[in-house]
Amino acid sequence: MSNKIYTVQDIATIVAVASELIDPSAIVYTLAYDSRKITDAKHALFFALPGRRDGHQYVQEAYRAGVRNFVVRPEAVNITDYLNCNWLFAQDTLHALQQLATYHRKQFAYPVIAITGSNGKTIVKEWLYQLLSPEYHIVRSPKSYNSQLGVPLSLWQMDGQHNLAIIEAGISKVGEMEAIERMVKPTIGILTNIGHAHDDGFASTKEKTIEKLKLFKDADKIVYNPIYVDSAIEVPGRHHFTWRIGKGAQLEVTASLKENGSQYVLEATYLQQSYVLTVPFVDKASIENLVCCWALMLAIGYEAMVIVDRVKRLLPVSMRLELKKGINNNSIIDDSYSNDLSSLLIALDFLKQQQQHSRKMLILSDLPTVGQNQTALYTKVASMLEGKGLDRLIGVGKHLRQNAALFRMDTQFFDTTEQLLTNIPKLEIRDSTILIKGSRVFGFENISKALTLQTHETTLEINLNALEHNLNVYKSLLQQGTKLMVMVKAFSYGSGSFEIANLLQFNKVDYLTVAYADEGIALRKSGITLPIVVMSPGEDTFEQMIEYRLEPEIYSFSELEAFISKLPSEKMEAYPIHIKVDTGMHRLGFEPDDVDRLLAKLKRTDKIVVKSVFSHLAASGIREHDNFTSEQIRLFDVFTQDLTRGLGYHFIRHIANTSAISRFPQAQFDMVRLGIGLYGVSADEYRSLPLQSVTRLRTGITQVKYIKAGDTVGYNRNGRLSGDGTIATVKIGYADGYSRRFGNGVGKMLIKGMLVPTVGDICMDMCMLDVTGIDVREGEEVLVMGEELSPETLAKAIGTIPYEILTSISQRVRRVYYFE
Ligand SMILES: *Cc1c(COP(=O)(O)O)cnc(C)c1O
Repeated sequence: MSNKIYTVQDIATIVAVASELIDPSAIVYTLAYDSRKITDAKHALFFALPGRRDGHQYVQEAYRAGVRNFVVRPEAVNITDYLNCNWLFAQDTLHALQQLATYHRKQFAYPVIAITGSNGKTIVKEWLYQLLSPEYHIVRSPKSYNSQLGVPLSLWQMDGQHNLAIIEAGISKVGEMEAIERMVKPTIGILTNIGHAHDDGFASTKEKTIEKLKLFKDADKIVYNPIYVDSAIEVPGRHHFTWRIGKGAQLEVTASLKENGSQYVLEATYLQQSYVLTVPFVDKASIENLVCCWALMLAIGYEAMVIVDRVKRLLPVSMRLELKKGINNNSIIDDSYSNDLSSLLIALDFLKQQQQHSRKMLILSDLPTVGQNQTALYTKVASMLEGKGLDRLIGVGKHLRQNAALFRMDTQFFDTTEQLLTNIPKLEIRDSTILIKGSRVFGFENISKALTLQTHETTLEINLNALEHNLNVYKSLLQQGTKLMVMVKAFSYGSGSFEIANLLQFNKVDYLTVAYADEGIALRKSGITLPIVVMSPGEDTFEQMIEYRLEPEIYSFSELEAFISKLPSEKMEAYPIHIKVDTGMHRLGFEPDDVDRLLAKLKRTDKIVVKSVFSHLAASGIREHDNFTSEQIRLFDVFTQDLTRGLGYHFIRHIANTSAISRFPQAQFDMVRLGIGLYGVSADEYRSLPLQSVTRLRTGITQVKYIKAGDTVGYNRNGRLSGDGTIATVKIGYADGYSRRFGNGVGKMLIKGMLVPTVGDICMDMCMLDVTGIDVREGEEVLVMGEELSPETLAKAIGTIPYEILTSISQRVRRVYYFE
């Protein structure tokens, strides 16, 4: 089957829209919807999609990036502002994209497997990819692209070189599946399971199941586990293949036995034959996902013995892109699990977002070539690298070396991973952000190990997707035009500095705020260009602040005078300052009565400009103080009105912190200041928002000991078990931020999903847990804080607030940032 090449004219016809084409024969290879992530602009078609940020606002940016083909709503863009463009007009631009995907998918007659379900979709997809690759050239959804937008983008990758597609589909409410079904038209369907995720959008589990099954309306075969499908539900599809852990399915797993801690042996019956399968995983979810893959393989005619052999060699799937500190002042982005064009593109976009070092580098292995023309493939790779501003490439593998001439940047090539490893010291790899991207067979985890800074093992993991999700939750609460300031003081509430600021800059928030000048300087030095406010600027830092364009919070007359006196006398543009008024917090700020004197002072100089005026609420999260909060808001309103009148120009007014954003929507004024909510902690007791947990603090067991009744544990002999038992010593203490107040059973941690209490006093670098009755060993992972053990829970245990828990995690705890 040949590859179809689309012209803009073809696409206009396919999606049946009005158009104004200046170059109808322009060729489209890539579909774009995010102006920050344009590749191959010349051949891109930009869809201005609706959403939290209307895509039409970014047409100009896409145009500047070189895009000339657009799908837009006719009224939303003034096309005379742009020269030499092709315009396709659609009332519903997402629908147009979906129509294009529908058409494209119809060009291919090879099987399409669609996977839906509450959990495990991505794992099942990735495992099937591993299991079926020996026979098939597979195209699959990148990462977890499974939404109304992700599915069409996944389908667009189908081409004549493949002979099997595996597509994920996720929905969160009733009515979404029909559109996905029309696009995917799967020939084979997999329902992984039905859990409780996203229950909000559905009236019942039954409704959810029925909705998901709509994906398989016209499929030939459906693979599922009957325990997830209510017997009253009619499963579509011509042929069913069922599996189950237990009796009552075609593939029945009758027994499972754990073997030496790291694998399971499963016994199963299929067509009256017994099979034994060794599985290199021990958690329940993995086993289910794996049996699901097994069932699919049987359903499409694989021989049982072939499956048994392949499953043994199955590798775990990590969908994460991890950002870590490297040796020689490098930052490392570790993505050594798969290597294909679409995942490379996603990783390069993440690399491009990083501003902390001026040099960007890629260590890349050969890509798997499935019948593709190598030169064509590496020409694409080379143009992608150039588009993403890469400075240096280290290539590993013979194919890359053969195509070396295509790469116009600083390059080195090695035939094998071992050769690269021995040469690392000579390569002068420093002060760079490095993306490590290799196919499994190249064993790039060894390169990652060699380049990453190995430190204390207690790790704080920061989920950047969750952070972005929370940001969007708060954005969706803002009234049209309200600006957003994000508080990144105290290392972004303990979660990081430039790593978080980079993401916020990428997401186009309006302002960042830090507590002290040095925090702001550190952000500037790592490439943050957003306006930054410093809340407690010391007089001795004013000159540096001016040098680094940091904007001071001004809270008193003396501070105002001191700052003005530090501004250079030669004419420069008026310097932005932020005036704080005290409306009841009684911490810092001008008094409401100061307004006239303040006006007089401000008007006497043209060296400064009042960029914003703000106040801070003392108790916006607590209902019993709501009258007080309202009074603060009223005082603020009066003060700022007087000031505006007196100054004769407008400034930004802001008073709302996290809990006021949701609880006092009338107090949004021109801007809000988001703090703790971004980090996944709801600041008030009502927890009404769907926030996601951002941070996970984990540590490990250093030693396990058996203790007799009456023995004491730790300093001061405060710890004692009630009978004979087992304790585990873990690598976290009060110097890591695990407060001494957690000692003697007050604090609890999770091991293998079980809550275990501390025993004895918390030490500086360690503490002990009572693990009596649990099978644990050295090196076992211990969860200190995370989704299951929230900062709120920890705070409650020791009578403090989650803010203190988060900001206490000390800097020696390694931070790892990841995107899924
Ligand atoms: C820290 C801080 C905030 C953010 O408070 P949250 O409760 O975390 O949202 C807002 N404004 C000022 C002045 C702050 O110091």
